[in-house]
Amino acid sequence: MADFKLEAIKCKNCGSGLVVEINDCITYCGSCGSGFEIVHGELQPIEINFSSIAIPGNAEVVYKPFWLIKTNVQILERTAAGGFMKNLFGGSGSETSGTIAFYIPAFYCTLDAMKNLATVFTQKNPVASPQKYNAKLTGFAYGKEDAKKLCEFLLISFEAEKSDTMKTFRYNIDFNSFEILGIPFYKEQDGRFKDAVLGLEIN
Ligand SMILES: [Zn+2]
Repeated sequence: MADFKLEAIKCKNCGSGLVVEINDCITYCGSCGSGFEIVHGELQPIEINFSSIAIPGNAEVVYKPFWLIKTNVQILERTAAGGFMKNLFGGSGSETSGTIAFYIPAFYCTLDAMKNLATVFTQKNPVASPQKYNAKLTGFAYGKEDAKKLCEFLLISFEAEKSDTMKTFRYNIDFNSFEILGIPFYKEQDGRFKDAVLGLEIN
């Protein structure tokens, strides 16, 4: 394991000091709204935006990072018919390709919580107009490669959980863009978190 060295990292865009916690692979500059992925110690630009609060509440708000990954998905073969892809692509049952925006938690949570958040957010696609906030965003645990695997896991689970029996499923997925989305969560008194966009609770 490499020695951890605390360094004063400055925003490449505006020069402000950046908050980087141990293990964070991404950092957000609250002063100018720039986002950076830290790759081998270098700051590489990445788009970071935030969702506004949709469900009002009084508890303390913390922002947790999600990957927002825009993809093109092509279904090459699926031997049992079903409805999800039809709904997902918003067209007729004969359409076999379309775009999906995956919402993948980038912070540590249980596998159940991750699957639930990713599934419901991806199906509802609730953040139409993300924006810049002067907010703190830390706690990045999963990088791009982890997020890609979770997109595929989610796509397969969407198909497998249809009421019919899936026999074969072949697909192609193109990853078009990777962005970070800060989703507001309320910190509840019992230590649980509840998101302020769709109201999902996590432990
Ligand atoms: Zn900056």
